Amino acid sequence: MRKGRDPDTGLAPYAALESGSRGRRYPEDPADYRGEYQRDRDRIVHSSAFRRLVYKTQVFINHEGDLYRTRLTHSLEVAQIGRSVASALALSEPLTEAICLAHDLGHTPFGHAGQDVLNDCMRDWGGFEHNLQSLRVVDELEERYAEFSGLNLTFETREGILKHCSIANARQLGELGRRFIERRQPGLEAQVADLADAIAYNNHDVDDGLRAGLVTIDELREVALFGRQHAVVAARYPGLSSRRMIHEIVRRMIHDVVTDLVEETARRLADLRPASIEAVRHLGQAVAGFSQAREAEHLELKKFLRSRLYRHERIEATRSGAGEVLRELFGAFMQEVTRLPAEYRDAALAMESASGPAGRARAVADYVAGMTDRYAFQEHARLSSLGAV
Ligand code: MG
Repeated sequence: MRKGRDPDTGLAPYAALESGSRGRRYPEDPADYRGEYQRDRDRIVHSSAFRRLVYKTQVFINHEGDLYRTRLTHSLEVAQIGRSVASALALSEPLTEAICLAHDLGHTPFGHAGQDVLNDCMRDWGGFEHNLQSLRVVDELEERYAEFSGLNLTFETREGILKHCSIANARQLGELGRRFIERRQPGLEAQVADLADAIAYNNHDVDDGLRAGLVTIDELREVALFGRQHAVVAARYPGLSSRRMIHEIVRRMIHDVVTDLVEETARRLADLRPASIEAVRHLGQAVAGFSQAREAEHLELKKFLRSRLYRHERIEATRSGAGEVLRELFGAFMQEVTRLPAEYRDAALAMESASGPAGRARAVADYVAGMTDRYAFQEHARLSSLGAV
């Protein structure tokens, strides 16, 4: 018997109860004083992929300024929102937190530009998808245990990390891939983590975009979610400085959508009454979600950010330069694996002898994807001094 309190106490029947967990790939004895999802969270925080998130781009390239979100601060904001929602709905907080903290572990340097370039480099060898890479990091790439590769996380955490997946990839993933083939849902903690991600980036990108001067308050007032809170704050605090105004609005926007998410999801749960996490998985659609009106507003903000911020010429310019750096790194390592650090070179050679050039390409992609923004620039400079790029 494990010492310490029962982690399932106080949770709803539809939550991920540890008593019903599908467990770990390599069975382990329970740990005293910690539940299994707490252990998953702790393993993620101690992983080296997690520490590297601090120097990876969210939207703004890491060296553009110290105040912008990086993947690490983004992941912490996601976790904080996820935990609030999980707690309000009597779901497992440690599981929700673990999924949120791990969701971007497989991200390349340079944000989505990096993902697109690496996917293009890998197009003949199965492609590259950051979401699948997050799973690969926790299942295979982390080297922290004597007895197995990866972090050996529970099925439920891995289920939540793998948000989407092509059918071809799903077929390679056994039990974890089955839901994509059979069109089933993940547990509620995974659904909440996914929405917490969207809430976090929509709101912090408003904040970062305003700080960078790429979008203005006047433009954002046209967007309902922002406009509504702007009207409240401007009426209540006339003459407020724009910095405080922005933070006051963004904080209210987060509160507004989080409250909507909790209340709408609670309504659906009261209606559907799933008796267990298995019942949640077999429902025809996701249970966690916004009300129709808020969903539409959330999409409106997302579209605004896509056209005005993510495609802003200043963002595009740094993005295409950074993308070229990754493309050249990939090409140089593919051509000559001896340019890789010893452990990656050994992995590349082993994977090549097991599965040919696709194996070599996957090892190179693992190495490049694991880089931070600044390490990618350093490696590029090193290869360039050798005349390799
Ligand atoms: Mg994210």
